[in-house]
Amino acid sequence: MPTGSQIRCLHQRDGFHCRFCGLPVIRAEIRKKVVALYPDAVSWGRTNASQHAGFQALWAQYDHVVPHSAGGTNELDNLVVTCAACNFGKMSYRLEEIGLLDPREFPIVVSHWDGLERL
Ligand SMILES: [Zn+2]
Repeated sequence: MPTGSQIRCLHQRDGFHCRFCGLPVIRAEIRKKVVALYPDAVSWGRTNASQHAGFQALWAQYDHVVPHSAGGTNELDNLVVTCAACNFGKMSYRLEEIGLLDPREFPIVVSHWDGLERL
């Protein structure tokens, strides 16, 4: 897992969009605030079925483009912001193993989406 400092740097660089697919994302810390503010509307349990589907889909995660198992490092140039689906889909595969292009070569999505950080 990247450190808190690295996560801040990753979002400053990548914004709040998945580098693979461009989906907007929300950090887990922000989701926890929303759950605390609106417990009747946003559930977050231990199972997929008990987690709010929207927040689950928009869950900001962080991928090692070159996995640790293939010699990838924890340096920022090997990390990207991802959505949950892309991160779980890629798992620890190398890009060429599953036919993905390198997300670091995609343009960063520029938008007004701030990942609900204003909360
Ligand atoms: Zn994605």
